[in-house]
Formats: sequence, structure tokens, C-alpha cells
Amino acid sequence: MGVSEIAIEARNAVKAFGQGAAAVRALDDVSVQIRKGEFFTLLGPSGCGKTTLLRLIAGFESPTSGQILLDGQDITNLPPNRRPVNTVFQSYALFPHLTVAQNVGFGLQMQGKPKAEVEETARRMLALVRLEAMADRKTSQLSGGQQQRVALARALAPKPKVLLLDEPLSALDLKLRKEMQVELKRLQTETGITFVFVTHDQEEALTMSDRIGVMSAGKIQQIGAPRDIYTRPVNRFVASFIGETNFLPATLQGAAARLGTGDLVELTDPPTRSGTVTLTVRPEQVRLAESGIAATIASWVYFGTDTHVHLALRDGTEVVARLQSNPSGETGLTQGAEVHLRFAPGAVQVLGD
Ligand code: ATP
Repeated sequence: MGVSEIAIEARNAVKAFGQGAAAVRALDDVSVQIRKGEFFTLLGPSGCGKTTLLRLIAGFESPTSGQILLDGQDITNLPPNRRPVNTVFQSYALFPHLTVAQNVGFGLQMQGKPKAEVEETARRMLALVRLEAMADRKTSQLSGGQQQRVALARALAPKPKVLLLDEPLSALDLKLRKEMQVELKRLQTETGITFVFVTHDQEEALTMSDRIGVMSAGKIQQIGAPRDIYTRPVNRFVASFIGETNFLPATLQGAAARLGTGDLVELTDPPTRSGTVTLTVRPEQVRLAESGIAATIASWVYFGTDTHVHLALRDGTEVVARLQSNPSGETGLTQGAEVHLRFAPGAVQVLGD
């Protein structure tokens, strides 16, 4: 990636809180390059360091060591108000006594911009988030989703180079949340502004992002497009955090891996090393077949569009297969029945650890 393509970069960022035995390493040597104009998501469980990384980019915290760069310039020591970066928080933090338009124009007004320009920008921003009709209302008269749109319009008004979004949708109910996901993606595409979005919701990350940085325990575990992360997770954490998956202990043998049952599984992308490994395969890539790996049907759960079938291999390994339900909803499965399974070509991945 050329330097001119990078909007934000964290270089070996470390953030420690507290001293001695009570010290927490919220970020442990994090390096990431976020491209200009991309929708980049930091995804990980609670406490993994997502918000801390966002706060370092915003300038609300300084790193214990390492650097933050914007457009190739070191901004590690630049105060937040001098960074061309804005943040949208989960709590919208709107001013209840001001109108919607005044809220949106507030930042520009503080910068001393002329009244006409403030009003014109507020109007344009409200059109962008489709709230023109609400301009003169008090924000306390708006729904949660509308308030979130106002917060977005306000954050976009000063034309930041980078917009940071810290779990902005988590206070919304599911339906509204889905609508706002589409809305946010549209806003990002229309404005071309680099979005750095924080969430612990893997589905949200998969559906909205150009690229995702998966975090755990203060480290970035993997960076890639949603499809890469889902189909080629590098380790056990990423594989299990993003969607459901199966883990199978195996021993590498050239371009194949031998399962505990003795069955050989072909690998499309065999690693150069040898020895024991863990394989992963998604439930939707497991098929029942006439021949293949012998298994017993343990149980199943009907989910409408598909049925999750729990299978036991001969060595005791459990494998879940997600099979498409037929029109009648009848599974045709019998508990304890002997079946065979196969993995879709290219679906088996060897994990790093
Ligand atoms: P969540 O999704 O719950 O917000 P997160 O991934 O954003 O989690 P952070 O808020 O970045 O995680 O916190 C990372 C770690 O650093 C946690 O263990 C947290 O308790 C700790 N931490 C964060 N801020 C501080 C602070 N000001 N003082 C002490 N510890 C902190």
C-alpha cells in the first residue's frame, strides 16, 4: 500500500493503564494501516482494546509508546481539536435545548464560521441523513434512530478526513439497527470519508465493512476483507469469533491432513510445516454424502431456512453441518443413524494455532 493511499496508521501502538501488578495492556503493539475512503471496522469482544485504539486516533489518549499517523504525518502529540478527525459515540450527546439544525451547525459555529455558511452546511448535512423536515425540532422530540442521524450529521459537518464511530448503533433496536447499517454504509460511500467503525457484532462487521481488523487481548489478530476473514481465518480465535465453525484435530501429510478417525482430507492450501494442527470448516460447507467420513447423527435443530445437524465422528469429534431445509420442513434425519459426510472443495482451512 503506497503512503498516499493511507489515511490513518497506528505504528507499534502500546497503551498501558495503571502500574505494576495492576497494569492493563489495553493495546499490545498494534500496527494497522487504514486506507483513504474505506469503511474499516475494528471488531472484537468487550475489553479487547477497540475503544482504546479509537481514542488514540482521536487524540483523547496518548500511546505509552508507538505512533499515530494521519496522511503520513505523525500526529501522536497533536491535541484532539487540531486533528481532522471526528467521533460519533453510542450516546449521541446532543444538546436537548437546541434544534436539530443548531446541533448540526454547533461545531462550525464554534469555529467562528459565518452564520450563512453554518446554516447552509447544516441544511446539506440534514439532507444527507434525510432529516431536512426535522430541522427546527428540538432533539428531545426525535426517536433514537433520528437522534443518531443528527449525531452523524453533526460529526460530518466540519468535513473530517476520518470519522470514528464507537458502537454507534448499539442503543438501537434490531430493526432500526439494520436500517442504520444500510444508512451508514450509504453515507460513507456518498461522502467518501474514511470511516473507522467499532463493534463487537460480527454480522454488523461482515455486512458493512470494506476491511475488518479483528482484535483480541490488545492485539490485532487478522486484517482483511470480510470474505477473507470468514473463509480464511488465521487462528482459532478469529475462526470462532466470526460465525460458527467446526474444529478438527489432524496431522499434516503433504497436501492432505489425516483426521483422528484415519480419514484423509485434501487441502487446497497446504502449509509447508508438518505435525499436528487444527483444521476448521464452516457448518454450511459440510455435506451429507453416500460415502466419505463416517459419522453418527447425534441431534439436530431446525432453524427454518436451514437445519443444524450435530454429528459425531468415530474418534468422538463433533461436527455441525448446516443443511438447507426442504420445502416441507421434514428433516428426514434419524437420531443414531450412520451417515457419511464430505467437506466442500477448498472449505477446509489449517489454523495457525
Ligand atoms: P468494550 O467493547 O467493552 O468497550 P473495548 O474493546 O473497547 O471494550 P477498551 O475500552 O479499549 O476495550 O479497553 C481495553 C482494556 O483496557 C480493558 O481491559 C479496559 O478495562 C482497560 N481500560 C480502558 N480504559 C482504561 C482506563 N482509563 N483505565 C484503566 N483501564 C482501562
